[in-house]
Amino acid sequence: MVILGYTAPKEYISSIGAIAMRKTHPLIQYGYVPLLFLGFNAVAIALVTNGFSWWWVLPLFLFAITLSFIAEHFLPYNESFNHNKGDADRDILHSITYELSVLNSVFLLPFVAMLRPWDGAWPSDWPLWQQLLMAVLMADLGYMLAHWMSHKIPLLWRFHAPHHSAERLYGFNGLIKHPVQTTVEVLVANTPLILLGLPQDVALLMGFAVGIQLLLQHSNVDFRIGPFTYILTTSRVHRFHHTNEEGKGDVNFGLFFNIWDIIFGTFKYDKNRVWKDGDLGLAGVQDYPKDFFTQMIGPFKGDMGTEVARDSDTDQTVPAE
Ligand SMILES: [Zn+2]
Repeated sequence: MVILGYTAPKEYISSIGAIAMRKTHPLIQYGYVPLLFLGFNAVAIALVTNGFSWWWVLPLFLFAITLSFIAEHFLPYNESFNHNKGDADRDILHSITYELSVLNSVFLLPFVAMLRPWDGAWPSDWPLWQQLLMAVLMADLGYMLAHWMSHKIPLLWRFHAPHHSAERLYGFNGLIKHPVQTTVEVLVANTPLILLGLPQDVALLMGFAVGIQLLLQHSNVDFRIGPFTYILTTSRVHRFHHTNEEGKGDVNFGLFFNIWDIIFGTFKYDKNRVWKDGDLGLAGVQDYPKDFFTQMIGPFKGDMGTEVARDSDTDQTVPAE
């Protein structure tokens, strides 16, 4: 660095960098989850309350993804998970597909609601944040069960396998979802709410909250949330779900909270477990196709070698009936 003819010594520059990092790291470490989980959802609620067009949801979500990537850059859980392993382009295509399928579901909700032959019992007069909280708490069980079904029903597992084929966990992983799986999840989790009369605004906010949650669940940020690790379903617990150890990944199916996994006996967390390169991916599957189009079309044609691995999983703990 040259300032007015003065060349600063390298040690000086690196010590400034070290000070900057020391100051920003705790901010990212302790501020990342509250900012995304509370901050972004609060902004979304404020925008809906003030009558903004629905299209703001896309730029706001892109902003959340950008901040998440910046946090991953400065404070990675595993530096190597940030590096493109030939999967980055595919993951961007997956993310766009996921966003479109979620928006599509939200726009279809009024038509589904028209099929409801009675007036809904939904408390539409509650403040929006209370309605969203109720929707999230109710839908969380449905999301967890839909995810569990995706592991246990062979036909659904085919469409969930692309999500598990990721060999590193970082921001985009949560959005690697086949539209068939997204549709199954949205239907199972939202149908009871729609029958109760879930308003479209609240459905949109929940779609946004789900996107934020998927970011947190797969994030490569080395954040700290203390005892909330046992309450919120973040990447600290979700990495156990993505292990490539055969027979070990049928745990932590939850989306927002760990409560249902704890109740069903499928919660697993060990604070001393360190996740390295080679620890994540499809258990027992060799040569799963890596390109986007094969991952989209392939599940309609066959299991692409994933069924053997799923069968070897059958001795695992399952939710109680
Ligand atoms: Zn899964």
